[in-house]
Amino acid sequence: MKVDSSAVQAAVNAAHRDFRPDQGGENASYIPYLASVNPALFGISVVTVDGEVFETGDSNFEFALESISKVFSMARAMDEVGLPQFHDKVGADPTGEPFNSVIAVALHGDKPLSPLVNAGAMSTVSLIPAGSAEERWQKILATQSAFAGREIKMSDAVNNSEQSTNFHNRAIAWLLYSGGTMYSDPMEACDVYTRQCSTLVTAVDLATMGATIAARGTNPVTKKAAISHPDIVPPMLAEMTMEGLYTASGDWAYRVGLPGKSGVGGGVLAVMPGVLAIAAFSPPLDAAGNSVRARKAVAQIASALNLNLYNAS
Ligand code: GLN
Repeated sequence: MKVDSSAVQAAVNAAHRDFRPDQGGENASYIPYLASVNPALFGISVVTVDGEVFETGDSNFEFALESISKVFSMARAMDEVGLPQFHDKVGADPTGEPFNSVIAVALHGDKPLSPLVNAGAMSTVSLIPAGSAEERWQKILATQSAFAGREIKMSDAVNNSEQSTNFHNRAIAWLLYSGGTMYSDPMEACDVYTRQCSTLVTAVDLATMGATIAARGTNPVTKKAAISHPDIVPPMLAEMTMEGLYTASGDWAYRVGLPGKSGVGGGVLAVMPGVLAIAAFSPPLDAAGNSVRARKAVAQIASALNLNLYNAS
């Protein structure tokens, strides 16, 4: 399926115009850095599997990747560990709970419910084969960079802000450990997880990362493979469908019909496999932790371009 370039740019522009005035939501405040980001920022980008890039607004502003990082660590773990082995250790279920839920640990000895919420994400990090936490972190950073097609860097300001307030995540890491579903030192996994959330991307980077998923793991701009096993892509998309927007995931699937992922930094990503990815960024979040403007913009662009996985022809 091909999309018309002028239709994509028109949809991107219209979404920016329509939702820029939206004053809904509030910046995440539990991470001090995120509370300090200008709430008026709003950027949108679309990247196609042919490497065409569309953008508008604050599309070059670097924001914290946060939870969207979970998609790329999941990719690395699936790619290195193997799909059956990964699925044996981390589930693909909607949690019905907030992203930082303790319930998602699966407290009764089962596997964590999803790699896309904090609990399963820390297990996922711990599953990535490495001789040290530093090596594991470098693999994750390299994976984010390969999907983005440029060198992604961690922000010390974001990381310090998170590391000094992430007590709840540390508690989850110990719960995973006590339940036998943490596969490295739990505090190291929490530390690496916190770093992976603290990298900076633009809306264009995020759309490129999504387009790499849409193109079965080959970055459409650099033409380089970001993963070794393209067959991990369908399960990645399934995980995103189940839990990508937390408690709003079902509503998102119902209304938009595209695998997505959000982060408390204000980014939202949606992927139409084989076609393109849509990314938007704006800091104010709704109660589920999804950016208000970005969520609306991505949904409107998908609808304008007739992109719905459940309505594909
Ligand atoms: N670093 C954040 C956390 O662990 C990421 C959460 C998110 O983006 N939903 O709480």
